[in-house]
Amino acid sequence: MRGAMMHAPGDVRVVDRDEPVIEEPTDAVIKVVAACVCGSDLHPYRGVEPVNGPTPMGHEYVGVVEQIGADVKNVKIGDFVVGSFWASDNTCEICRAGYQSRCVHAVLMGTLGAQAERLRVPLADGTLVATPGQPDEDLIPSLLAASDVLGTGWFAAVAAEAGPGKTVAVVGDGAVGLMAVLAAKQLGAERIIAMSRHEDRQRLAREFGASDIVEERGDAGVARIKELTDGLGAHSVIEAVGTQESMMQAIRSTRPGGHVGYVGVSHDVALPGDELFFALVHLTGGPAPVRRFLPELIDLIWKREIDPGKVFDLDLPLEDAAEGFKAMDERRAIKALLRP
Ligand SMILES: [Zn+2]
Repeated sequence: MRGAMMHAPGDVRVVDRDEPVIEEPTDAVIKVVAACVCGSDLHPYRGVEPVNGPTPMGHEYVGVVEQIGADVKNVKIGDFVVGSFWASDNTCEICRAGYQSRCVHAVLMGTLGAQAERLRVPLADGTLVATPGQPDEDLIPSLLAASDVLGTGWFAAVAAEAGPGKTVAVVGDGAVGLMAVLAAKQLGAERIIAMSRHEDRQRLAREFGASDIVEERGDAGVARIKELTDGLGAHSVIEAVGTQESMMQAIRSTRPGGHVGYVGVSHDVALPGDELFFALVHLTGGPAPVRRFLPELIDLIWKREIDPGKVFDLDLPLEDAAEGFKAMDERRAIKALLRP
């Protein structure tokens, strides 16, 4: 089968890969209908993370179940399924508490490479959620978004306790930040401030429910949020970048007693203890337990109540995966969808 591999920073190729097979009785193999390039895939692409030899790429996927292991009961051959970027058993204590991304048996799907024609999904019963039927073509991008960016943005909004009566600020205008805007809107937030200096992303943020746009960053961005909130700061702040600057911008934009939900993959972030102490904010985040939210998100998409698929502004055949990476790296695209 064909699949995308990263050979070195900046070097993605679509090559022949071995067909995945059932290795464990809890596995499924799916025919990938759509996959995509993640902002986190750009970390090795840009050399921020090492590339140790040719590496399969991709951890977001929707597809049709083609094979199941002997122990798989919750999905059957022919089902259209959405899975999280972490495989999880959904039965251990951590999963049952809603933190499936840290399942005691978690497998990072990126190690298997979803940007391919087929994909082995470990712990299929816990990981995959079947849609009510075969989706209409136009729902596929939205269902794919649920696999990571929507689920991650949703978790961030829940972690930040976005809801009725709340002012929510979103640091980061990548796909996850934009999905967090959508999530905050769905959760009933009164006011949603998107922090973005890119016109196309500002427009999408408004479509997803942002009521205000702040273009300033860093201390100037914090000052603008304070101005917009009677000097107090936002109730709920979502951090969707993962840098020192963005994390401090998020903490400093939050009012005392408020909540920060952070989902940007942290790179060399060091929090000053004294400032954290006196900030008096709730800080919750990490790798999003997308599986917790998948049934609800699939339902909202199926009923066409949300349209997160709009976040894909580039739609390519799998063979052009390298162009998807390049376009996102150069910020010509917010998020690239790949069709095997
Ligand atoms: Zn578990």
